[in-house]
Amino acid sequence: MKLICSFLLLSMCWLPLFAQEEQRCGFYSSPEEKKKYAYFFDFQEKLNQEIEKRKETTAFARTEADILTIPVIVHVIHNGEPVGTGTNISAAQIKTQIDVLNEDFSNNNPYKNRTVEQFKSVADDSGIRFVLASLDPDGKVLPERGIHRVRSPNGKRVWLSSDEFDSEIKPSTIWDVAKYLNIWTIDSLRLGGSVGLGYSSFPNLSGLEGIPQTNIGNSRTDGVVIRHNRFGSAGKIDVPQLPKTGIYSYGRTTTHEVGHFFGLLHPFEGYSCAVDGDFCPDTPFTSTEASGCNLSQVRCNTLSMVQNYMDYARDTCMTLFTKDQIRRMRTVLQVSPTRLALTQSNVVSSADKILSNKVLIYPNPADRQLRITAPDMQLKNYQIYNLSGQQLTSEKFDEFSDAIDVSRLGSGMYLLQIETNKGIAVKKIIIQR
Ligand SMILES: [Zn+2]
Repeated sequence: MKLICSFLLLSMCWLPLFAQEEQRCGFYSSPEEKKKYAYFFDFQEKLNQEIEKRKETTAFARTEADILTIPVIVHVIHNGEPVGTGTNISAAQIKTQIDVLNEDFSNNNPYKNRTVEQFKSVADDSGIRFVLASLDPDGKVLPERGIHRVRSPNGKRVWLSSDEFDSEIKPSTIWDVAKYLNIWTIDSLRLGGSVGLGYSSFPNLSGLEGIPQTNIGNSRTDGVVIRHNRFGSAGKIDVPQLPKTGIYSYGRTTTHEVGHFFGLLHPFEGYSCAVDGDFCPDTPFTSTEASGCNLSQVRCNTLSMVQNYMDYARDTCMTLFTKDQIRRMRTVLQVSPTRLALTQSNVVSSADKILSNKVLIYPNPADRQLRITAPDMQLKNYQIYNLSGQQLTSEKFDEFSDAIDVSRLGSGMYLLQIETNKGIAVKKIIIQR
């Protein structure tokens, strides 16, 4: 079974597609597809036993040590347009998607106070964070952090099916699946009579006892594919690719697909009130997808959790992952070798380490001002993040100054990311007053 987010095609003619009504996601299943993803679906029972076994011990993000960091490479498959135009989306647009992922996975969604009261207690921080990789597979610093631009071999607009994309584009562009979460942004995706918005592969589970080691998923196709005009958030940037009125312009297609990448299923999987479709007891039973944002929707005689990222409501409606979903993702991150490897990947930290050792900051702890010393480097800009991965400040360095004003930050620990002409350094800073 393969998960495909798709438009419903009401006409076989391609051109008027964009005028058609959209549907968040659809199932595409055929015997071939089921065979392709058997490595995940055949082992659900074992995975559920493992989740149960670890229920008391699976660490949540209660301390800094529990944070799992996933390095991301975004392969921008474009049609030759200048950077920032059409399918060749800008670094700024990509950055907004990483910010949305970090907000959603840390339970810091700006709309989280809209979560229906009775579900607020099951919403939680997954402790999973995303960073754009700083190194390419040869260990060289990437000119654009986390971005790999590739002109589509077809030259102009192409409508590939997911199978064609998997066989024609992925193998020649994919980076080591044990080091990077590979995300492709693409022009358009054809799926039979539909246009797909995106899809994801599932994790292999060969770390579970009794599962053959040959069950390794696919190093040529593992990752997430998203249409370029569903990637990033119109709430954070003003670009023609993401119209403010678009119900899927706020980055939640990627949140949803990355949920699948870590092993989550739709709450309505099975389409029956008799089964727990996603094996997560704290997501209410449901037999149909949510649509729009009807918060009083009742399905299977119970109030529906339409705001769950793994259901189908519109982007600005979605607000939560639940504790059981988080347990499932965090268990998968331990028992799936390729997912576990991502949390130990060095494609972010080694570049940071090298540069971070050369960039010095003082005083630390600081009160109002930090000074930066970076010999033989040109300071370009800096960002300050809290430990939940939320960006608090993004500023350019003053040409004549090597100081950063931190007087508006409250006491506590933060991450300071400094971009120089030689790469990026990340420093932990403490504000103390
Ligand atoms: Zn889905």
